[in-house]
Amino acid sequence: LAQPFPARPPETAAAPYRDARLPVERRVDDLLGRMTLEEKAGQMTQATRGTVDPDAITRLGLGALLSAAGTAPTPNTPAAWADMVDAYQRRALATRLHIPLLYATDSVHGDNNLLGATVFPHNIAMGATRDPALVRQAARITATETRASGPQWVLGPCLCVVRDDRWGRTYESYGEDPRLVESMETAVDGLQGTNTKDLARPDHVLATAKHFAGDGDTAYGTSTTKGFTIDQGVTVTDHPHFERVDLAPYRSAVRRHHVGSVMASYSSVGWTDRADRRPVRMSAHKELLTGVLKRRMGFPGILVSDWEAIHQLPGDHATRVRTAVNAGIDMLMEGADAARTVPAVVTEVRAGRIPLARVDDAVRRILRAKFRLGLFEHPFTDRRNARTIGSAAHRALARRAVAESQVLLKNDRHALPLRPSQRLYVAGANADDLGDQAGGWTLTWQGAPGHTIPGTSILRGIRRYARHVTYSADASAPMRGHDVGIVVIGETPYAEGEGDVGNHGRSLNLSARDRAAVDRVCTAVPTCVVLDVAGRPQIVTGELRRAAAFVMAWLPGSEGEGVADVLFGERPFTGKLPVSWPRSQAQEPVNVGDRHYDPLYRYGYGLTTSSRAGRPPSRTGR
Ligand code: BGC
Repeated sequence: LAQPFPARPPETAAAPYRDARLPVERRVDDLLGRMTLEEKAGQMTQATRGTVDPDAITRLGLGALLSAAGTAPTPNTPAAWADMVDAYQRRALATRLHIPLLYATDSVHGDNNLLGATVFPHNIAMGATRDPALVRQAARITATETRASGPQWVLGPCLCVVRDDRWGRTYESYGEDPRLVESMETAVDGLQGTNTKDLARPDHVLATAKHFAGDGDTAYGTSTTKGFTIDQGVTVTDHPHFERVDLAPYRSAVRRHHVGSVMASYSSVGWTDRADRRPVRMSAHKELLTGVLKRRMGFPGILVSDWEAIHQLPGDHATRVRTAVNAGIDMLMEGADAARTVPAVVTEVRAGRIPLARVDDAVRRILRAKFRLGLFEHPFTDRRNARTIGSAAHRALARRAVAESQVLLKNDRHALPLRPSQRLYVAGANADDLGDQAGGWTLTWQGAPGHTIPGTSILRGIRRYARHVTYSADASAPMRGHDVGIVVIGETPYAEGEGDVGNHGRSLNLSARDRAAVDRVCTAVPTCVVLDVAGRPQIVTGELRRAAAFVMAWLPGSEGEGVADVLFGERPFTGKLPVSWPRSQAQEPVNVGDRHYDPLYRYGYGLTTSSRAGRPPSRTGR
């Protein structure tokens, strides 16, 4: 860290690419013209912190790094994060042409890899708010907190259109309707800003629309590599459906929101309206990557492969690199293999198997982003906004987002809103667990139960309103004398795959513990309210019958008080289901558009209450 900023040799100090007054394209042309093939190959490679030797950054001239969730412990203060990113940046600047590094992180619901950051509800909850302006503000906060701690590139938002709740990434989706997903692309504006100059400011980052395309629409039980998996599986579809559902959000992300990067999905596409139905992995899908995304949609930014995704392609390493780059991938996101990838690109170009023009196109896209981010002028972290990380103002917006995302599915006998004078019995571990309430992609890849992050639990929020609260995680405390029972059920954290199914074999079903808690509390206490803290709808037909009121709380993040705000009528319930709610798992995947499809609650369902006024709730549609 003590190393000085490397001195610029005279021949590049005056080079046009160093001149911030020149147009970006001119600077790109100048720099590209000075680069060797090896340097170009380095720019096209992104390595994972913790799996690559830091010296390799200088030796290979790597274009980017990332903190991939789960691969190495992350620092836990903003300053330590920024010191880490800046130390890597120094190594990048020690290369011949001093090309700065892009540093990426998965800030998918706030700067969620940083302890103390504002953790927003996951995307599915943001979809429930139907509030594009709020989503934009939340993304702006995410950008500010992330960039103040080092990374300038965020691997989000996920634009997946989820069609099967058994998918473990359901909560990363804004919903099942492509139009809803499109309306939430204000997240891109919040992250990047809307003016090209915004990217260079300390409160914006480069955004990534992921995972292109069809990741939420794969067929359950089909995969090119595994037995039964929905994650990284195959989207079995015809062209019109794929256009309407899976590609539509990218069209607007590229054309209206000018998203700076796109990540190719791990999943494959298999056409049903073609003679050849064999699934093709997205990182090798030239027709979709180059033909559709780059040519037809006119995407000018960086197309990055998912983490080690090229390892799933057939052939040896060089063949995989060649296939991906020739299909249209500009940046190869690697783990430990970055050191093999750079020479592989060089060899394939020298052998004439990757056209040099393809490499130049890829490097142009990468350099363009670096110039726009202002990294050549300000390669190190601007830490001025670090004091706003987890600030009261940021958390207040997250709390509002939580309140707006709550979906009231049932409210008999005006059970809600609650009154502060009522004697409350609160049950269920998810009532008082910030880790459960934040879900996956929180400090670690999978997330973890327990008070892993600072914030307020739902229980703490309830206690701020009510005077008489008994809490019993397992519902074993005496229940007599209470007016209302609040049972908080739900999931424990997971990321990717199929979620809980691997650990508990229950998928969308409730755990036996949750079922027993609802049973006990709803039998013993006169009025029973059930809250579901989960990343997707669960099978709750029986519990709905038992409860007077049922609230879908999703994964609210660090501000559990937002849940209490609607329970006590400080704010009204206005959230609407972003996905339809199945009666049983047999109703997956959702049959949007089929008139015989009869879910328990339709897409868009959600009762409203008015704040404090206590008027009877009304049924609402979209
Ligand atoms: C996920 C991506 C993520 C990447 C880097 C992959 O496993 O599919 O969404 O951006 O890891 O952490």
